[in-house]
Amino acid sequence: MQQYSGFGLFKHSLSHHENWQRVWRNPIPKSHYDVVIVGGGGHGLATAYYLAKNHGITNIAVVEKGYLGGGNTARNTTIVRSNYLWDEAAQLYEHALKLWEGLAQELNYNLMFSQRGVLNLGHTLQDMRDIERRVNANRLNGIDSEVLNTEQVQQLVPILDCSKNTRYPILGASWQPRGGTARHDAVAWGYARAANALGVDLLQQTEVIGMRTQDGVISGVETNRGFISANKVACVTAGNSSVLANMVGLQLPLESHPLQAMVSEPLKPILDTVVMSNHVHGYISQSDKGDLVIGAGIDSYLGYGQRGSLNVLEHTAAAIIEMFPIFSRVRINRTWGGIVDTCPDACPIISKTPIKGLYFNCGWGTGGFKATPGSGHVFAHTIAHDNPHPLAKPFSLDRFISGQLIDEHGAAGVAH
Ligand SMILES: Cc1cc2nc3c(=O)[nH]c(=O)nc-3n(C[C@H](O)[C@H](O)[C@H](O)COP(=O)(O)OP(=O)(O)OC[C@H]3O[C@@H](n4cnc5c(N)ncnc54)[C@H](O)[C@@H]3O)c2cc1C
Repeated sequence: MQQYSGFGLFKHSLSHHENWQRVWRNPIPKSHYDVVIVGGGGHGLATAYYLAKNHGITNIAVVEKGYLGGGNTARNTTIVRSNYLWDEAAQLYEHALKLWEGLAQELNYNLMFSQRGVLNLGHTLQDMRDIERRVNANRLNGIDSEVLNTEQVQQLVPILDCSKNTRYPILGASWQPRGGTARHDAVAWGYARAANALGVDLLQQTEVIGMRTQDGVISGVETNRGFISANKVACVTAGNSSVLANMVGLQLPLESHPLQAMVSEPLKPILDTVVMSNHVHGYISQSDKGDLVIGAGIDSYLGYGQRGSLNVLEHTAAAIIEMFPIFSRVRINRTWGGIVDTCPDACPIISKTPIKGLYFNCGWGTGGFKATPGSGHVFAHTIAHDNPHPLAKPFSLDRFISGQLIDEHGAAGVAH
C-alpha cells in the first residue's frame, strides 16, 4: 500500500481519478471477429467469458452502445432464486443458481452474493394451493423449497404484519433458503474483467445500427464506428431486441414494457430476507447499504423510455405498506425504470435464428438477472456448437411454432 505524507494525502484527495489502472482495455475495433456479441450487459459479458473460457474462442468483441452493465443489469432489484414451476425453467434457473454459488471465487471478484432466502407469500387458499404445487414441483427437481405456515413466516420476518385483521392476511409462504440477492454492477464488472483477461475486446460507446447478411448468412454488424465483419453475431440486448431483429427483417414474439423500482433512504439492518407477494403485488429486500429495494409489476403500455408512471409506484408503495405498516414513514430516495422484453409465456428465448450465424438471447422480461451466469453459459455453448445446449433447447424460437410454450406466469409473478 502506498504511504502518503499529510500533504500527499491532501493532493490525492483532490486528484482522485489519476493513475488508476484500467480494469479492462479500451481497444480499437478490429475489422473482423469470430463472434460479435451485441449488448454489454451481464448476459452478453457472461456469454463472452464462457465462450473464451469453455470453448476456446477468444477472437470476440462485445459491442455496447453505452457503458458496460448500464442497461437492465444496472437497473434491476437483484433478486436471485430458482423456484420456477416447470421442469425446463426450473432446471435452467437452478443451473444458474449453482453457478452463482461459486462465481465470486471463479471470477475472483466480490459479487456480494447473499443467500438470505426468498419468501413468496400466500394470501388466499388458491395462493396456498399454487404455492404447494410449485414447492412440490421444485422438490422433484432437487431445488430447495418449503411451504411455511403463518407462524413460521412471522418467525422469519418479525416486522411483517401477519395479524388476521389485515385486508390480505398472510396464510403462509414458499421459502427458498438458497435464494437471495447479489450486487448487480459487480456481476457485470467481474465478467468484464475476466473476459478481457482472456482476450475479449470490450467496445463501449459502439452502437449497432444495422446488420449485414449474404445469402441467408450473417456477415457482420454496422456500427457508429464502422462495419465489423463476423462469422457469428449474438444479440443480447434485452429491451432492445426487437429493434435488432428488425434490422434483418425478423419478428420476435416480444413486447417491450417499462419496469420500475425504487429505493428508500438507508435504514439500520431490519429485513434480512427477500419478501415477495404476487397477490398484493410488491416485493422488498434491504441492500447492504441499508436502502429498502422495492419493485412491482410492469407498466402496461409499450415503450422504450427508461421510465414509467407514478400510479404504478404508488400502487407498489401501498402494497409494501400493506405488508409492512412499520415502513409507512420511510422516505423514498430514488425511482427509476428499465425496458424489459416480455415473451407470451414469461420465459426467455435462447436460440438460433433462420439466419445462419445469428443468435438471440432475450425475452427474460422482469426476471433475467438471476439467470445471468446460466444464460451466458448455455448461450456460449449454443453459439460455439451452432446447436442448442440441452438446457437451452426448450427455449428456442421453435416453441412459438410448435406451441410448446412453458407458461411461467405464475412463478414469474410479481416482476423480479
Ligand atoms: C426495474 C427492474 C427490476 C428488475 N429486477 C430483477 C430482479 O430482481 N431479479 C431478476 O432476476 N431480474 C430482474 N430484472 C430483469 C433483469 O434486469 C434483466 O432480465 C437482465 O438484467 C437482462 O440482462 P441483459 O444483460 O440481457 O440486459 P442489459 O443489461 O439491458 O444489457 C443489454 C445491453 O444491450 C445494449 N444495447 C441495446 N441495443 C444496442 C445496440 N443497438 N448496439 C449496442 N448495444 C446495444 C444496452 O445498452 C444494454 O447495455 C429487473 C429489471 C428491471 C428493469
